[in-house]
Amino acid sequence: MAKYIFVTGGVTSSLGKGIIAASLAKLLQSRGLKVTIQKFDPYINVDPGTLNPYEHGECYVTDDGAETDLDLGHYERFLNTPTSQANNVTTGRIYQTVINKEREGAYLGKTVQVVPHITDEIKRRMMLLGNSGNYDIVITELGGTVGDIESLPFVEAVRQIQWELPEEDCVVVHLTLIPYLSAAKELKTKPTQHSVRMLSQEGVHPNVIVCRTEHPLNDDIKRKIALFCNVKPEAVIEAMDASTIYEVPLKMLEEGLDVIVLKKLHINGYAAPELSKWNSFLNKLGHPKQTVTIGLVGKYVELQDAYKSILEAFIHAGAMNNCKVRIEDVHSEHLDESNIAQQLKGLDGILVAPGFGSRGVEGKIEAVRYAREHKLPFFGICLGMQMAVIEFARNVLGWKDAHSTEMNKATEHPVIALMDEQKDVKNMGGTMRLGAYDCSIEEGTLAHDIYHASMISERHRHRWEFNSNYLDQFTQAGMVASGKNPANGLVEIVELKNHPFFIGVQYHPELKSTVENPHPIFVNFVSAAKVFATSKQMVQGEAGVTA
Ligand code: GLN
Repeated sequence: MAKYIFVTGGVTSSLGKGIIAASLAKLLQSRGLKVTIQKFDPYINVDPGTLNPYEHGECYVTDDGAETDLDLGHYERFLNTPTSQANNVTTGRIYQTVINKEREGAYLGKTVQVVPHITDEIKRRMMLLGNSGNYDIVITELGGTVGDIESLPFVEAVRQIQWELPEEDCVVVHLTLIPYLSAAKELKTKPTQHSVRMLSQEGVHPNVIVCRTEHPLNDDIKRKIALFCNVKPEAVIEAMDASTIYEVPLKMLEEGLDVIVLKKLHINGYAAPELSKWNSFLNKLGHPKQTVTIGLVGKYVELQDAYKSILEAFIHAGAMNNCKVRIEDVHSEHLDESNIAQQLKGLDGILVAPGFGSRGVEGKIEAVRYAREHKLPFFGICLGMQMAVIEFARNVLGWKDAHSTEMNKATEHPVIALMDEQKDVKNMGGTMRLGAYDCSIEEGTLAHDIYHASMISERHRHRWEFNSNYLDQFTQAGMVASGKNPANGLVEIVELKNHPFFIGVQYHPELKSTVENPHPIFVNFVSAAKVFATSKQMVQGEAGVTA
């Protein structure tokens, strides 16, 4: 029988519920428990796949092809175990299930209502992974903030689960904010009292209160929060801002979050935390020996969350290389032939990002050209790979109008074309080529050097593909298709022969990079950037000597 931990949020959004949930999960896992985390989001979209990154940040894709909330990325990066469709549920998905059942006549003429039909479906999904027998503990993060109209049915479902289960099988952790008023030089507990009261009015009383704060909480404040929120002082946990999200598990360990939760769940005889890999990662992260600067070429660069997994994968790969990776945002919409050298000259490598639609693509193509011609380490992901193919077609093969039919349907050289299975797709939600596919890798290629394997599996999210009708011409001119789908021959990896590091992948390697398993392409790309940086310094040094 699994036990359940619910994580709710109060006062404001963006407090980092996902990181607190992932940190608690990490600590419990490090003590030998089998843990998974799921996220329940109160919005009406059936999944975040149809949301644009400005709305909701990156869309994270699981092995089973679910388009999910970016918090699932944190769960995987922290726990090093895959998540699935079951780990992310929205109001839209709940209603869709209930309404479909109603249309099938499954409710036998009854009036279908929020309580009990919607709440029952929420409860069923909240307990699904727990009932699988695969986990000791299921952590459920509730999206949104307590008091939101739309999160009411979720809170009600938690209330009912808490009522139904033995007391020791369910814990509610409430994450809240303790603001500091600089004029009064005081930390304020009132918003927390109000949000706990609101949660209690909805029938759920938190067992543990985690307080985000910019200043340490002294014992008096902890006592005050405990007294007015009706928990014991040891159940008030300070969550000070950390310099990296990866430090949060250690901070929570110091504060005893895992121990108080284990106590409430009556779990005894747990092991001491085994965090040696985690600590060695943090140690490397904190003591870099070198810095490289990577240009992230994309159209959402002003928005941190849009490329979340890519940024995190660089952190993992940097630590692996004992190297700090400085990311410089390069807005592809503002790039053209006249400013490209100026914009990219200080960089040690560029990553051309995934994306949809035509905004900013010419800038991306310009960036690829610069990297190819200047032997600058290049890494293209999904749309970034497609741009590398287009650039090669235009500037090496000489097909000036070459394009993807996503941007130009009428091109005479559709080197990137819509996949056959996509041609009749009308519905936008969940219909891309999604999730894990095998890819076979040719020996003697950069991809093979990187993966040390002939068969890999990576996650996809796209509709267009390399047009294999042109493959021979590309190969003859020096662009190699080093990875292909073994079942249908789709080109998944391209690389250049006469270049120190130039690779484009149709899939999303960033989604599989974790603290304990940094992704090998990111690791090798950072290492190529280190070589580039060092040789640049040597050239500058020599120039200095001769001058
Ligand atoms: N828009 C491109 C496609 O659908 C690339 C998608 C992506 O970068 N994720 O094929």
